[in-house]
Formats: sequence, structure tokens, C-alpha cells
Amino acid sequence: MTVKTMQTEAVQNLLLKAAGLDKADGNPRLKQIMHRFLSDIYQMIEDLDITPEEFWKGACYINELGSNNESVLIAPGLGFDHYLDIRADAKDKLEGLDGGTPRTIEGPLYVEGAPLSVGEAKMVDGKTPGQGMLLHGKVVDEEGNPIAGAVVDIWHADSKGGYSYFDPSQSAFNLRRRIETDENGNYTARSIVPSGYGCPPGGSTIKVLEGLGRHGNRPAHIHYFVSKASYKHLTTQINLSGDKYTYDDFAFATKDELVIDARPIADKTLIKENGFEDNYFDVEFNICVTIQPHLK
Ligand code: FE
Repeated sequence: MTVKTMQTEAVQNLLLKAAGLDKADGNPRLKQIMHRFLSDIYQMIEDLDITPEEFWKGACYINELGSNNESVLIAPGLGFDHYLDIRADAKDKLEGLDGGTPRTIEGPLYVEGAPLSVGEAKMVDGKTPGQGMLLHGKVVDEEGNPIAGAVVDIWHADSKGGYSYFDPSQSAFNLRRRIETDENGNYTARSIVPSGYGCPPGGSTIKVLEGLGRHGNRPAHIHYFVSKASYKHLTTQINLSGDKYTYDDFAFATKDELVIDARPIADKTLIKENGFEDNYFDVEFNICVTIQPHLK
């Protein structure tokens, strides 16, 4: 039988002191968050009768998670990124600012400062093997008017699921480009079809996910930021259809509107016209961005 001590004066005083609420110094917001955080953890220890062995196992796990740089990986795996999106969507809706292409999680693998070009870009260096992909679309406003000069910042994995800067075998900014839309709002990228990927085998994240009876895999996907002055910054990504994990993403990023077909193209004229040497896949993703709240 679990003992109940949470509501005793000793524990309530301990919580106040541990969060610095009996001191004038310090950061009030940090104190508020810490008091709530500690109260919830203490309460969980009481409610679930957490043993000291379980508690210290958890503490050691946090050490290991940090030393493996995996806190930003387990966060989406435990739904935090998606939960923050749900809150942001609800806030937009409450304020009448919803609409446009849905947002979804950024993930931890963005790198700033990718090469910028107008209208189109080749994303892949000459050394990276993979099936060709023509990735293109139009950026429009809520009335369907094309938006010229929007910056479409795209990043994705290679055919083995690795990202430049995190996979040392890839060159700088491989599969990362910023494309400014042309006068008709269009962007075009020549790249390779990305593969999905999983959490590092034997790592801290997969250890927990497997303990929960879950997997740690993402489907093939392509990340986007879309930005232009006066418009709300859009963070999103598309999942390619037909992947085993399209609707079973461990990071909960899938949204129906963001599942896109990769259409195989074998037409010799199109292959030549679009600068490929062999059959390629056509991926069309049109994007609607909305005006910034204060300009509505
Ligand atoms: Fe990713």
C-alpha cells in the first residue's frame, strides 16, 4: 500500500523551498515552472508508488540521454513537438488566424544558411546516389494569388536516411537549399528521393520506445520553412505516400493534407527536359501561406 505524504506540511514546505519560493532572488517564471514541475513529479511518485530504484534509474537515464544528444529526438517521439503544434493550431483557430497549408513539426535537423537561389535549385551534390526527384510547386495566398519572392527553405535526408551535417559522409548543405519563388510563385528543386529513417540503434530514445512497445521510425519526408515579409512563417513537412510509416510516424508529424504522391516519370522527353539522366519521381507540393495577424 502506498503512503500518502503529499499534503503534509513537511512536503508542501519542501516544494516551496526547493523552488526558491521562500526567497526574493531568482527568476519568478522559473520558480513558477519549477514548483509545478516538482509538485507533479512528487505527486507521481506518490500515486504510482515509484521506488527509489526506479527514481534513480530515471535520473541516470536523463544523464545518458543528454550525453547522447538525444533529448531533441525523444521529444518528438513522446509527442511534445506535435502537442506544441496542436496548441499553436488551437490558438490560431481561437484568434481566427487558421487556414493555409497546415503546420507540422520542424524536427531537430535544420541547419541555417543553405544556399539561396531564385526559382530553382539543384539540391544534390554529384556524389550522392539516389533516384531523381523533381520537387516543385506554387506558393499562393489564401485567395490563390501567386506569391513571388517567398523563400522556400527545404531540407531532407538522402536515400539512406542521413542528413548533411549529421552524416559526416555528406558534403556541406547537401540536400539543403533555399529557393525564392519566381514571379509566378513557383519553386523547383532537382534532388533525390529521400528515405525514411529511424532513431539510432542502441540509443537512448529507441530504448524507451521499445519499452513502450513502439518503433522509432519516420516515413520518407521533406521539411519546409516558407517565409515572406507580411506572411506568417510556415514550418511544415510532407510525407511521401506509400511508405510503410506514412501514417505511422514515430514523431506524429503526418497530416492528411501533407501526404504527397511521388509519381514515377519514364517519359524520355520529360526526363531530358527536366535535366535527369533516367526515370525520376515527380513530387508536387503547392503551399498556401496566410497574412500575418496584425495585417489582416
Ligand atoms: Fe527529418
